Amino acid sequence: MTNARLEIDEAQYLRNIHAVIDRIGPSQLMLVMKDGAYGHGLAWAARTASTAGVRWFGSYDVAGAKTIRGVSAPDARIFAWVTSPNHEIADALMNDVDLGVGSAEYLRRVLTQARDVGVRARVHLKIDTGLHRNGIRPEDWADVVSIAREAEKAGYIHVVGVWSHLAEASDAQDDAAKRVFDHAVDVLVAAGGTPEILHLTASAASWWRPELRGSLSRVGAFCFGVRSADGPELEGVRPIARLVAPVVRVNQESVTVGIGSFDGIPSTLEGASVGTPAGARELLRVNSSTVDVASWPGAAEGDSVVLFGPGGSGEQSATSLAERIDTVGEEILTRLSPRLKRVTREFE
Ligand SMILES: *Cc1c(COP(=O)(O)O)cnc(C)c1O
Repeated sequence: MTNARLEIDEAQYLRNIHAVIDRIGPSQLMLVMKDGAYGHGLAWAARTASTAGVRWFGSYDVAGAKTIRGVSAPDARIFAWVTSPNHEIADALMNDVDLGVGSAEYLRRVLTQARDVGVRARVHLKIDTGLHRNGIRPEDWADVVSIAREAEKAGYIHVVGVWSHLAEASDAQDDAAKRVFDHAVDVLVAAGGTPEILHLTASAASWWRPELRGSLSRVGAFCFGVRSADGPELEGVRPIARLVAPVVRVNQESVTVGIGSFDGIPSTLEGASVGTPAGARELLRVNSSTVDVASWPGAAEGDSVVLFGPGGSGEQSATSLAERIDTVGEEILTRLSPRLKRVTREFE
């Protein structure tokens, strides 16, 4: 009998990527691939996107960036933004990875590593536009810019970009963030900097707020078909993953499905609908997962139950499940156990 598995539709993944590219142009796509490409598998996701022509990848950390480097085209640009220890900075430089820099302290460490390794670092300075998470405060910006310009003149770094991350809590707040961002770019340019890569927006703002897009848009969730929680459906974008598990036992009371909280299914998802050959059925319990046999009299061992997916068997999307428990679709995907097999196949 086949085990529980995450089926991934590669063709739909590419359609999502192209829908995003068409939507955000002329802003270019940086495909964000944190948390193992949102649980879909990093190497597969990067290789497939690179083959389809994606040339910018965003990795949270240097380890992920190196994986992407190993499977993508030689001219792919890879951006790692978390503040990393020195040996990882050196590793990033040797693997031709651009670095996001959100503090004066990190900037100093990056330029020291660049000098020691003998590779000019490509740096994207991060201005804090209000999120107060890793970012150079506006009041410190001019000082950090002058340190960066000195290091640039000395040949240790090249400040290729300016970036920030939006709260996406309200349009007014994001508009204010954009003004802080534009001012930061002006200050850098006035100091002689030449940042050609500007990026501020993630999935939702890239899609809905064209006036906020920079030359690059950092989009993760939408490319993987995960819409915003409480947000509308997106034209041309559909879920690419379907979590499927076999019926392992049928008795007088219930149909037991071979998947549960050990596989990363939140137990709070009790009561959600799952897809079965007989249509949508309620999930009574999650550990181990059961469906009421009275609601599904024809159930047989080996039948497939779809816990989430694009909807073909009555199942809900990962985002709809997430909305039941007040979280985001990404979390449903990234909590799945790495032990679950990932298989690519085209959905009907
Ligand atoms: C996660 C993340 C993104 C992508 O966000 P999505 O909503 O998944 O598109 C972009 N930038 C940063 C800094 C992130 O952490």
